[in-house]
Amino acid sequence: MNTKKTVFFTGASGSMGLATLKEFLTRTDHFNVRILVRPSKKNKKLMRKYRATPGLEIIWGDMLDKALIFECVRGTDYVLHMGAIISPEADKYPELTMRTNLGSILNIIDAIKAQPNADDITLVYVGTIANTGCRREPIHWGRCGDPIKGAIFDSYATSKIASERAVFESGLARWVSLRQTGMLPVHTSARHEPIIFHQNANNAIEWATAEESAVLMANVCEDWIPESFWRKAYNIGGGKQWRFTHWEFMQKALQSINVDFHGAFDCRDLALYNFHGQWFTDSDALDEITHFRSLSPDSYFEDIFKLYTRLYAIPILRVFIPSAKQLYKQNKKICKKHMGPDWMIENNKEDWIKAFYGSREKQACIRAWDEGYELKRPSEDPSYLDHGYDETKPTEKLKLEDMKQAADFRGGTCTSAKMTQGDLFTPLNWTCAFGHEFEATPNLVLKGGHWCPECERKAWNYTEIAGVNPFFAQVWTPLHHDEEPINVPKDVCDLLVLEEREN
Ligand SMILES: [Zn+2]
Repeated sequence: MNTKKTVFFTGASGSMGLATLKEFLTRTDHFNVRILVRPSKKNKKLMRKYRATPGLEIIWGDMLDKALIFECVRGTDYVLHMGAIISPEADKYPELTMRTNLGSILNIIDAIKAQPNADDITLVYVGTIANTGCRREPIHWGRCGDPIKGAIFDSYATSKIASERAVFESGLARWVSLRQTGMLPVHTSARHEPIIFHQNANNAIEWATAEESAVLMANVCEDWIPESFWRKAYNIGGGKQWRFTHWEFMQKALQSINVDFHGAFDCRDLALYNFHGQWFTDSDALDEITHFRSLSPDSYFEDIFKLYTRLYAIPILRVFIPSAKQLYKQNKKICKKHMGPDWMIENNKEDWIKAFYGSREKQACIRAWDEGYELKRPSEDPSYLDHGYDETKPTEKLKLEDMKQAADFRGGTCTSAKMTQGDLFTPLNWTCAFGHEFEATPNLVLKGGHWCPECERKAWNYTEIAGVNPFFAQVWTPLHHDEEPINVPKDVCDLLVLEEREN
């Protein structure tokens, strides 16, 4: 009898996926591995060395090919969905991003459901911290269940919020959403895109590495993971030692090339907010179950430092390593690119200015480094947002009254007449503050932090939502109470995919 488990995953050509592939290939004594890879020239080259690997099956094709996904899922025990279009690519192609990211997870959910042994197949979905958007001080501590709030103009977040909702509401027997945080190594293409200015110097992020994320992906497929682990979302994070502000992180990253953050960046180009990031009060809980952490930032950056020291020693390579002055000059050029700070100001992109700076006045008031731009590290003391129901109650005690209380705190109502006590997985009926009616499981609302899908579709009208939804106001008002309202319509939403699939 074959006792090996079969794992199928997407995204194997990405940095997390490739690390995951390498990790699984150390475990082929008890796993068969099947991956789906897009047949691009680059991917063909990347996969060349794995072609004849025992225990590995490479399938060439597209995640949006429904029939192919069905075939890939057939006979598997675990489906790991890492494939996605991510930022900054996602910002340039919002439609393609929605089509790819939401379309692929819907294909996977349908394919699992269509298998005769659907209940034996586990879905591991890689979600993202982008779902919760900007969480600058004083709201820099967070956990799953906090309000969903994608950053304004963040098409990647919009697509991943809809995707995670689909996973929560899939009705599958076993699934998990692992929300990825800032992951090292940072994709090199991002260094030349205006996204480098979208983050404030004092933004807080708890980082993770691709290597440890890969161990996480493999460990969750092991038999020793308890049954209670599933049907939840978790934040991936490296824990205390990986909690940095953006400026601390940049100092560490740039020291490997002997560059100072102050020398390479003009701080006045950095946005005030609207970039995701937080420190997690719940990431330790994920590690306690899955034991994926192993690297310290000191050893990680030490290795990079050593690598660059070796490169510096080679004269022909030395010329490719930029000085602070060269980086500064290069960054000033990137400022002018589409979505860069100069592009926003010079082209009167008022919504962009509002989203990233609050107002023109606030932008103009940012001090230069030598005029007293303040670098700080926010409070180390964890704080917790109110989720609007009694969290001390065990899940099996939660009942309709708790749902009504939670809905009330979200400015809406729970209109269902009954609920089986403790059942967080049967959808209930809800109405948001604007009168939109929708179905959602208590799990999605209470544990996932999601709310009205219609509001999520319409616009980034966060001032208006915060005005009627005290739950949401916790993540908006502390940062924006002194600003003019913002209301940016969304060009692309989940209906682009949902309606096409219906036809
Ligand atoms: Zn609504």
